[in-house]
Amino acid sequence: MPSLTELDLAHLFHPVTNLKRHRELGPLILVEGRGVRVRDEAGRWYLDGFAGLWNVNLGHGREELAQAAAEQMRQLAFQPTFFGLATPPAIELAAELAEWLPHHSHFQFTSGGAESNETAIKVARYYWAQLDKPEKVKILSRRMAYHGIAMGALAATGIPAYHQDFGPIPPGFIHLSPPYAYRQARGSEEEFVKALAEELEATIEREGAETIAAMIAEPVQGAGGVVVPPEGYWSTIAPILKAHQILLIADEVITGFGRTGRNFGQETYGIQADLTTMAKGITSGYVPLGAVGVRPSIYEVISAPDRTFMHGFTYSGHPVACAVALANLELLKREGVTENARARGEELVSKLKSLEALPHVGETRGKGLMAFIEVVEDKTSKKPFDPSFGLAYRLQKATRERGVIVRCQDSGIAIAPPLVIRQEEVDELVNALGEALEAVFRA
Ligand code: PMP
Repeated sequence: MPSLTELDLAHLFHPVTNLKRHRELGPLILVEGRGVRVRDEAGRWYLDGFAGLWNVNLGHGREELAQAAAEQMRQLAFQPTFFGLATPPAIELAAELAEWLPHHSHFQFTSGGAESNETAIKVARYYWAQLDKPEKVKILSRRMAYHGIAMGALAATGIPAYHQDFGPIPPGFIHLSPPYAYRQARGSEEEFVKALAEELEATIEREGAETIAAMIAEPVQGAGGVVVPPEGYWSTIAPILKAHQILLIADEVITGFGRTGRNFGQETYGIQADLTTMAKGITSGYVPLGAVGVRPSIYEVISAPDRTFMHGFTYSGHPVACAVALANLELLKREGVTENARARGEELVSKLKSLEALPHVGETRGKGLMAFIEVVEDKTSKKPFDPSFGLAYRLQKATRERGVIVRCQDSGIAIAPPLVIRQEEVDELVNALGEALEAVFRA
C-alpha cells in the first residue's frame, strides 16, 4: 500500500503551492481539529495560527455544525435557488444576514469568495445597465488587493504573482494605491489619506465617472499583507465614491463575521457599502459557502425589469451549507465570539509589537485577529529579502517545528487564528513566532 504522502505526490495538484519544492518537501497531512488546534497524521498537535485559511472563526471540532449538516442532508440534501425554488435554510439564512448587515435587504449565495466577487461585479454592471447607463462598467480596485482567482475576481486582484502567465486578464479594471503606510506613506497619517484621496479623485477625473461602475475593496487587505488603513481612510474614500455615483463593494470575505473585532470591517471603519461580499467565516469553513448582500435601492432596480436575472451557480444557496451557516452564526452570537476577537486581537497586536526589536522585523501590524509581521533584509532601507533566499520556506519550517501553523511568505508572516483563541494561546503563538524568527535569523 502506498503511503498518503506517496499518493499526495502522485495525484494531488496543490493550489498556491510551489509545486517543485512540494516534490521535495511533501505535504503536512492534518487529520483532526479541536478548538484552535489541529493534529497531523503522526500525532503531533499544532496551534492553527491561520484558522485554516482565515476562515475557521468558531474553531475546530464543533459537534453542533456536524449535526446541522447531517440533519439537513437527511431531510433534503439538495435543491437549487434557481427558477424561484427555495429551501428553508436558504431563506432563513438570507433573513439572518439581513440582521447582521441591516443596510442590505437581499442576499444571493455562492460557494466562496471569488464567486461572490464575480457576482457583485456583475450585479453592479447590471444595475447601471437597468438605469440606462450601460457604459458604467469599469471597476476600481487597489494594488495588493486579493479578491480571488476566477477571471473577474482575478482582474480585480492587485498582486502581480497571481496574474503572471494566466493572461489575458479581462480589461476594465483599474488599480489604485493601497493604504500601505509602511512603504508608501510620506508625512503624517492625515497627509497620507489626503494623497490617496487625491489619487482617487484624479483617477475618476481621468477615466470619467460615467464609465466606472464600482470600486471593490477589502476593509483591511488580507492576503496582500494585512494592510490596515490609516485613520480616516474609509471615511474619506466612501463619500468620494458616492459623490461620483460609483458603487462601493466591500469584500468582507476575510473581515466578515468578527475577524476585525466587530461583526464586519464596515462597522470597524464606520462605513456602509452598497454591496458586501462574504464567504469563509460564514460557515467557519465547515462547508463552502459565500454570499453577496445588496442595498434595498439596488434590489429595487435589478428586480424591476420583466426579465430573468441570468446569473447564479448550481450551489447558490446549497441547503446543507446554509444550514451549517445558520448554526455557525447562532454560536458566534451566543458565545460572544466577535467580542473575544476584539479583546484577543488587541493583545495579539500589542504583543507582536515586541517582536519589532528583533533584527529584520520591519513592522508588525494588525486589526482584530488578523495580523502581519513584515520581514525585511534591511530595516533602514526596508529592502525585502531576495526570493532566492527562500525566506518563506525557512519561516515555514521554523514555525512548524515550534508547533504553529501560520502563512509564511517572502515578505513575512500572516497570522489569523480562530476567533475563539484564549489569552494564553495568544501568548503561546507570539512566543513561538518570536523563537522561529530568531532561529531563522541566527542561521
Ligand atoms: N476575497 C478575499 C478578501 C479573500 O481573502 C479571498 C480568499 N482568501 C477571496 C476573496 C477568495 O475567496 P475564495 O478562495 O473562497 O474564492
